[in-house]
Amino acid sequence: MSLNPKRTVGELKELRELTADENGAQRVAWTDVWQKARKWFTTKLVGLPIEHHYDAAGNNWVTLRGASEKTLLIGGHLDSVPNGGWLDGSLNVLAGLEVLRRFIGEFKGKPPVTIRLVDWADEEGARFGRSLLGSSAFAGTHSIAADRVRTDKDGVTMEDALRRCGVHMDHFSEAGKERAKAAAYIELHIEQGPVLEKMGLPLGVVLGTKGVERHAITFHGQEAHSGATPMKQRKDALAAAAKLALEIRNIAGKHSDAVCTMGSLKTYPGIVTAVVGRCEATLDQRDLDAKVLAQMYREAQEASKRFASEESCTVEWSRIWNIEPIPFHPQLVELCEQSVREISGGSHRLPSGPLHDAAEVSRAGIPTVMMFVQSLRGISHNKIEDTREEHLEMSVAALDRLATKTADWILRAN
Ligand SMILES: [Zn+2]
Repeated sequence: MSLNPKRTVGELKELRELTADENGAQRVAWTDVWQKARKWFTTKLVGLPIEHHYDAAGNNWVTLRGASEKTLLIGGHLDSVPNGGWLDGSLNVLAGLEVLRRFIGEFKGKPPVTIRLVDWADEEGARFGRSLLGSSAFAGTHSIAADRVRTDKDGVTMEDALRRCGVHMDHFSEAGKERAKAAAYIELHIEQGPVLEKMGLPLGVVLGTKGVERHAITFHGQEAHSGATPMKQRKDALAAAAKLALEIRNIAGKHSDAVCTMGSLKTYPGIVTAVVGRCEATLDQRDLDAKVLAQMYREAQEASKRFASEESCTVEWSRIWNIEPIPFHPQLVELCEQSVREISGGSHRLPSGPLHDAAEVSRAGIPTVMMFVQSLRGISHNKIEDTREEHLEMSVAALDRLATKTADWILRAN
């Protein structure tokens, strides 16, 4: 079998037909539609000289044994958000399958290195709010105790939902066994942002995933009557928060790829006739450089204190979550750049704002790189998510090049 990128596009459409409704993709992890998607995927493996199993965290592994046990991993995720798009995660898996077929064809079923395709379980965290579940079990960074008691909107616990799909959380850490012999990991993904489209480039090289600082910020003022309280005597918690909402744009603006978002704001008592006595905000800050991230966090804290004092309020911070920036492997970034240039002529290096399973694999110490293909309008996690078919086909070809170069690199480097 030679590489046939058109087949990948056809299979993506088949999957969409099977698992989307009028609102978009419905392959939410640990649901029947997701299991249907996974079952469909296994039908594509029939007749291939591969081994196939689910690990202790529900990740789906397809192994093509090579002359060397050293292993090239190619990954993606078939799960989607509710009302999601047709490409997020599934392009990675199906392009990986096409690359696997090409290796089988070229080397008569026995490539120079072992190649494993993985469909990670629950990348999106859409049902239980826990992203990168399967890949974190693989990486050994997972904390079971915190997750097993999570519930979905109907009150079903994560532990019960997983058990229904044959995954027992007590055994989660056994997924770490899959790391054995892993020498490199590559992942193709849609960009999910507008950068490549704006530059007129089909493909890009991902430098790493941005670190995230995520905080709850509460401004305390004084609830007071909106008619009786003179402007100068107010302790308006919303006014302080509003100043910060604007200031974070300046804080991020000093760095080329940094982003800061105040995504949620709640006011109390939240009625039309009262000055806001308490305002709860959230702040999400991201950058690929740990020093930049630390600086932005410090500056936002200082600004919040300044604005609180200007408005006669106080402010308190509590961390919701954070993760360090995860830069990808410099030599694999280089190989990815070569692959992208060979297929599409141009290339651009960019960080990823969203986290991906690749971040967990990289944290586990496995050399990792990702490739992005342009997203139309920069929209994802939405049924209008789309990419030009010729760009999808180029992305399959570029992933294939990268797989060959990485397999050679594995043999050379070790
Ligand atoms: Zn994804």
